[in-house]
Amino acid sequence: MAPKITRGFVWIRRDIRLHDHPALSHALEACSEVHVGFIFDDTILAPLKTRPPLGIDRRVQFIAESLAECDTQLRQYGSRLHIRYGNPSLEIPELVRALNIDRVYFNRDYSPYAVSRDTDMTEQLESMGASVHSFRDHVIFEPEEILNNAKKPYGVFTPYSKAWRDRLSISEDRLTPFSTKWSHLAKSFDEPPLKVGFLLELAGFEHIKNDLKGGSAAGLLRLNQFTEKMQHYDQARDFFGEEGTSKLSVYLRHGCISIRDMVNVALSYPSLGAEKWLSELIWREFYQMIFHFHPWVNDRPYQNKFRDMQWPTSEVYFEAFKNGHTGFPIIDAAMRCLNQTGWMPNRLRMVTASFLTKILLVDWKRGERYFSWKLLDYELQSNNGGWQWAAGIGCDAAPYFRIFNPITQSKTYDTEGGFIRQYCPELSVLSHAQIHFPAGEKQLPLSFQLGVHYPMPIVDYASQRIKALELFSHASASALVPKN
Ligand SMILES: Cc1cc2nc3c(=O)[nH]c(=O)nc-3n(C[C@H](O)[C@H](O)[C@H](O)COP(=O)(O)OP(=O)(O)OC[C@H]3O[C@@H](n4cnc5c(N)ncnc54)[C@H](O)[C@@H]3O)c2cc1C
Repeated sequence: MAPKITRGFVWIRRDIRLHDHPALSHALEACSEVHVGFIFDDTILAPLKTRPPLGIDRRVQFIAESLAECDTQLRQYGSRLHIRYGNPSLEIPELVRALNIDRVYFNRDYSPYAVSRDTDMTEQLESMGASVHSFRDHVIFEPEEILNNAKKPYGVFTPYSKAWRDRLSISEDRLTPFSTKWSHLAKSFDEPPLKVGFLLELAGFEHIKNDLKGGSAAGLLRLNQFTEKMQHYDQARDFFGEEGTSKLSVYLRHGCISIRDMVNVALSYPSLGAEKWLSELIWREFYQMIFHFHPWVNDRPYQNKFRDMQWPTSEVYFEAFKNGHTGFPIIDAAMRCLNQTGWMPNRLRMVTASFLTKILLVDWKRGERYFSWKLLDYELQSNNGGWQWAAGIGCDAAPYFRIFNPITQSKTYDTEGGFIRQYCPELSVLSHAQIHFPAGEKQLPLSFQLGVHYPMPIVDYASQRIKALELFSHASASALVPKN
């Protein structure tokens, strides 16, 4: 009697790669024939289609490029990527039926939507007779794995980070890459290769050129190149004009490279820079953990005392902020950079978020949502954590009275104004000294008229700062008064 064929299906989601892929590796080990597929999820994509610029989304472009690469790689082994558009809870069961699948594999995703989707999907597939196998991939340690002595989640980063590192030193297997038994991939020759244009059309979007190319090859190349810069990371990371960071977040977000790829690199080239870089990767897991245990931070400040705070929120200020027309050059350059490229360096994310919440006094949630639409590396937990940190309302956050002065930040980290010149070219006629805040300068060139060539500041920084301190300190104080 011929041996029974066990058919597996690997559902790719935010892990668009074939190397070091736990679900794929386990499927290839356990099954004699493995199919790999991806669903463009209408639940996620439909809202993106209603936002300007209509029909364009940088993330979809990046995903399409990454999927096309995956398909090309699978074809080298005589297989291919199955691709569908729709609701996964209909599409996956249909594929499982059509391909006669016995076992479904995926890597765990921790966003609330993904958790509820996967729970429902598992029930549905099991009721059809397929077994479901999920794996840790996106993080080195899942939220419940790093708890304090009282078995409670940490609320402060430093002890969490220490516990994370201690745990790693006794579980080095967490860094072992997953291997792949290519010969067990299902053979498939009949469908044409997946091109980026076809994938975009299927998803309902048009082509847009990104600075960062999608796919594992580009991600691994960038990681490899970063190893040369990593030792200086601790000093270079804040100088946003000079690209002292890795720009790997988008590859990690979509899983083109694995977290193990990154941590292994950090540990292989010991230096102060590598230490700092590893610590940023731990911040990422810290925010995943916070969100897991306190999912309400999605809408509310982590710190209780700020939950009832009334943000004045001027629509005029918010519009000026989004469009990069506040009259504060570094803020405007940062927001235009975000709008034009889907990217913003970390220091500027902190400075702009601090400015929106603590100087313009706009509700942090508005800014957080705007970033979530624009960032190529948008990650729910890190974005939420970053906004709450900068607004001074989050877990282990900057205190509310620490307000980044955009002019000082600009002078310190972009001394000659190169970044401002790139994104606010109308300011290029100004000298190094003038460019950080033309409204504060007396003798501007005759060819440059403030209010004509570039906006006057929309607010007076000093008085807004005082208003912010009053607002926050009032919220802190009234939280101490018992409510009837
Ligand atoms: C307001 C605000 C919003 C943010 N939104 C996001 C987001 O949507 N997605 C996102 O990945 N990061 C976000 N961050 C964190 C950080 O800004 C980005 O991860 C970083 O800029 C990515 O650049 P890089 O890959 O060059 O990072 P590097 O400096 O090279 O760091 C390496 C990796 O560590 C992680 N990392 C670095 N800094 C942080 C941090 N502060 N918090 C969590 N993880 C970090 C990222 O995965 C990053 O790729 C946000 C920060 C702030 C202040």
